[in-house]
Amino acid sequence: MTVITTSPAQTEQLGERLARILEGGDIVTLQGDLGAGKTRFSQGVAFGLGVERSYPITSPTYTILNEYEGRLPLYHFDFYRFGAESDLRELGFEEQFYGRGVCLVEWPQRLAAGFSEEYLEIRIDLLGDDARSFTLIPHGSAFEARVVSFGQNIKKCFDHDSVSCY
Ligand code: ADP
Ligand code: MG
Repeated sequence: MTVITTSPAQTEQLGERLARILEGGDIVTLQGDLGAGKTRFSQGVAFGLGVERSYPITSPTYTILNEYEGRLPLYHFDFYRFGAESDLRELGFEEQFYGRGVCLVEWPQRLAAGFSEEYLEIRIDLLGDDARSFTLIPHGSAFEARVVSFGQNIKKCFDHDSVSCY
């Protein structure tokens, strides 16, 4: 499923909508170049999970992990600064990855494969100055049905002229 957003605000709204279908233990990966909108999307997810809007949701590029408390704990990772094939076990984040919260992972490419068989992969592509495409790829059975219903929900609530689902 692919959705196109045409403003940062709309990307945030998309994240907020996604938060509604997230459950404890979910892992969502965000792949896209610098400036694609991974952090902006994450802000929407945080607000959608009930983190207060006034709370600053910042990029964890230097801290690696930012933690927020919403209806579920949110663990926002950015592995940009790690070398390829970093081992999650050595990094010591197993508690978050296999806990009761939601993990949002920027730069999952830096991790050696196999942190989980069940995760939602989101690929973000820059289409133009303000246009971004979000492609949702479910891995494992847990996300398949949820991504379908998310797509239907997005079609209903987003302006058809500026957002397309296909
Ligand atoms: P990343 O975390 O992927 O490096 P950020 O979310 O930090 O990206 O930044 C995205 C940048 O792109 C911001 O400056 C934002 O204003 C801009 N932008 C323009 N159009 C969009 C859009 N449709 N969605 C998200 N960000 C957008
Ligand atoms: Mg970022």
